[in-house]
Amino acid sequence: MLTDSVQARLDRARNADSVISVVDRTGRGVGIATEATPEGDSTLTWQFAAEQVRDVAVGASKQFVWDATSTETGTGRSMIHAFYRPEKAPWRRSAEFAQFTVAHLSDTVLPYPYPQMTTIEGPIGGGIESLMVTLMGDLSSSEALFGVTYHEISHMWFPMLVGTNEKKYAWLDEGTTTFNETEGRSAFYPDQNAWVRSEHNHRSVTFVEIPSMRHADRYPVDGPARFVASYDKPGVMLHALRGILGAETFREAYRMYAERWTYEHPTPYDFFNTFEDVAGRELDWFWRGAFYESWTMDHAIQSVSCQGDSTVVTVADEGRLPMPVFLKATYADGRTVERRVDVDAWLNGRRQVEVVLEGESVSRVVLNPDGVLPDLYRSNNEWTPSAPSGKSESTP
Ligand SMILES: [Zn+2]
Repeated sequence: MLTDSVQARLDRARNADSVISVVDRTGRGVGIATEATPEGDSTLTWQFAAEQVRDVAVGASKQFVWDATSTETGTGRSMIHAFYRPEKAPWRRSAEFAQFTVAHLSDTVLPYPYPQMTTIEGPIGGGIESLMVTLMGDLSSSEALFGVTYHEISHMWFPMLVGTNEKKYAWLDEGTTTFNETEGRSAFYPDQNAWVRSEHNHRSVTFVEIPSMRHADRYPVDGPARFVASYDKPGVMLHALRGILGAETFREAYRMYAERWTYEHPTPYDFFNTFEDVAGRELDWFWRGAFYESWTMDHAIQSVSCQGDSTVVTVADEGRLPMPVFLKATYADGRTVERRVDVDAWLNGRRQVEVVLEGESVSRVVLNPDGVLPDLYRSNNEWTPSAPSGKSESTP
């Protein structure tokens, strides 16, 4: 269907790391980009073939230009294509964004198994995934286009490769994808703290929460409840889970889940089981708090006192979502120590725990120092001798 010159540029893109303009503004049209139609016939017939796919979409416009490149996936090389109207400036980086995304997810989740990935500028708000193709709307900045590109391409893994039920368990594909997207933003824009921003998104809407474990049709039509439950909150909770399990164990469990359930149809219980298998510990308290309830977490420093030659920090749990205590203390000489209190401390109903630190010269105590836990009120998380911790504020 394509002319020899277009084929030649596509062949170059097949092994190129740079983006090749396959059809530019002046190269469009019959006889230039596509073969001339046979005499007496006004149509060309295109045929498409794909293996191991559960969805399909097509985009066509005589206004499109076509960029292409390719990337290593770990098991071979996949082509990347972008189709868009050339006057839409952010789209000039679309192939580059898609290339980064396929490479990054191949590295951090599983190798991308398909021969190509295509981004198309389409008539939609935001974006929508199909297999090996995504349509994305009129995004005003290149940063916005990057975020949606990473999000939609992440759906090639969840739910395209790992075929979960998108209506019954929306959080299982949108939550993993939101987690991946924030990871992608952090990698592509390293000077922005994408996780802090995401966490704040969650905290600011926490009062409209409805649990994530609910059919997508069963949220109020108005308001952000479905979005919070399916996107932001599970993204934030997976980030917290990584902080609890450690980056290495989390990554191994996440990969194992994808590997076990590629081309299969897992449920949330399969997700939970894989994490417990890999971590070697029971996490019921986490799954319940994160996905079945809309509880919030609030740890607070209640008091800091010297007892003998030790410093005793009393930490109160003022929320309902049980989480381990992450504590960091700084001494007058600048030395720091970190302590963790396992979540078991709370599971029998206790509301306070004591953390004993050696020495009396503690000059600062901070809870949740890296911000990985979804603690709702941050103002009661820090203590210094001059600014003793008070009670929780009444508003976030
Ligand atoms: Zn999505």
